[in-house]
Amino acid sequence: MVVGLEVHAQIKSNSKLFSSSSTTFGSSPNSQVSLVDAAMPGMLPVINEFCVKQAIKSGIGLRAEINKYSVFDRKNYFYADLPQGYQISQFKYPIVGKGKVSIDLKDGTSKNIRIVRLHLEQDAGKSLHDQNPSKTYVDLNRSGVALMEIVSEPDISSAEEAGLYISKIRSILMYLDTCDGNMQEGSLRADVNVSVRKPNDKLGTRCEIKNLNSIKFIKQAIDYEAKRQIKIIEDGGEINQNTLLFDTQTGKTKPMRSKEEAHDYRYFPDPDLLPLEIDDDEIKNIKNNILELPDERIERYIAEFGLSKYDASVLTIERSVSDYFDEVIKSNKALQGHAKIVSNWISTELFSLLKKDNLDISTSPVSPKDLGELIILLTTNVISGKIAKEVLTEMFSSKKSAKYIVEKEGLKQMTDSSEIETIIEKILSENQKMVNEYKSGKTKLLSYFVGQVMKETKGKANPKLLNEILFKKLN
Ligand code: ADP
Ligand code: MG
Repeated sequence: MVVGLEVHAQIKSNSKLFSSSSTTFGSSPNSQVSLVDAAMPGMLPVINEFCVKQAIKSGIGLRAEINKYSVFDRKNYFYADLPQGYQISQFKYPIVGKGKVSIDLKDGTSKNIRIVRLHLEQDAGKSLHDQNPSKTYVDLNRSGVALMEIVSEPDISSAEEAGLYISKIRSILMYLDTCDGNMQEGSLRADVNVSVRKPNDKLGTRCEIKNLNSIKFIKQAIDYEAKRQIKIIEDGGEINQNTLLFDTQTGKTKPMRSKEEAHDYRYFPDPDLLPLEIDDDEIKNIKNNILELPDERIERYIAEFGLSKYDASVLTIERSVSDYFDEVIKSNKALQGHAKIVSNWISTELFSLLKKDNLDISTSPVSPKDLGELIILLTTNVISGKIAKEVLTEMFSSKKSAKYIVEKEGLKQMTDSSEIETIIEKILSENQKMVNEYKSGKTKLLSYFVGQVMKETKGKANPKLLNEILFKKLN
């Protein structure tokens, strides 16, 4: 399987690429449209400097060459939601050239996906087909919004890798604050090119699946499309280079247009815009203001906390999660040696509670400091893991601290061995028959006795001590 992605990322910016209209999502239709966005006769586009800087910043994050000279071209096509009759884009001279993105695979290895280019372009408006039974309406709020198109080499070889690649791009842009990464709102979407071949053969003919806006659909579409192509070839047929749509209901791809009808965009330099020239100082300035990127954070987690590469990469995908983790660790020096436990508690227990209430980690009712305190109680054996889970649930709903809950409800672990021993003796004397069975070889009964002691102590006996003493007594 051979896959290459064209990712469209909306630039995070208050105003559009060539006009001062707002880019706010979800406003009432056509309320954010200037004369330029509506392509009124005589309008003149004016470049938004901030968007250019955002593109350069993104290029640096993708470890790519920044082109000090780039040109805006007109890409001509007719469509009802494209008032100009052309899109201003970059063709021959994009602002960003070759780069690379590293993805971390499950088996612990990493792979580089090469970037061909990143160019600046305008978004089109939106046709609304469901507002009136006999008419189509057009909303131009999105018309002229700045996009970065990021094109990869066909270096991706599975749906899994494609998923990792797009989430890595999303993560890099979100760390840089150059795109909000909101796939549901369409701020990040991808066209997916898929072909198949026998190992070491030359590249097969590709089909392109347009406009996918979720990682799940990207993966489904790739797997379906590769199987479809393999079947055609194995049945003796040939692949035609087609543009396809993915039907999210059926999970199948279907033709949109074929190569015969393919567009000829008649690109030419836009006479309204001068070529962009950027100097070294400007690039250096932007570079110096970039904070820690995901790959650097992964390296830091490996070096400082001994996390595995895969764990570190899972933790850093979402900047908000990684920031939360950093805050927990920072809250108490003693937690530095327990980074793996902190990471597990965030990605399992805290996540499942957040998910149940549909909350984002940035608005978690349990603060990083409070989670840190709970984990200290756990790692110093004041409470057991099982109790800690219950305490976290309680913290989540009452917003009380771990210490308070443990104190109030008397949940401290029993670590006094003579106390535990007394209870064990009581349980064993009440179950003489079973003790005899154990002694005659039915050693599986050990867990039964453990369960009884736990029941008697309401889960508070220190499990390690309990097991040690019980084993000694029985043998
Ligand atoms: P177009 O605008 O015609 O789609 P682009 O150069 O913008 O062309 O994008 C082509 C995309 O298709 C790139 O991401 C590239 O990696 C990918 N691609 C090229 N050849 C193949 C192939 N044989 N199989 C899969 N993907 C391919
Ligand atoms: Mg394409």
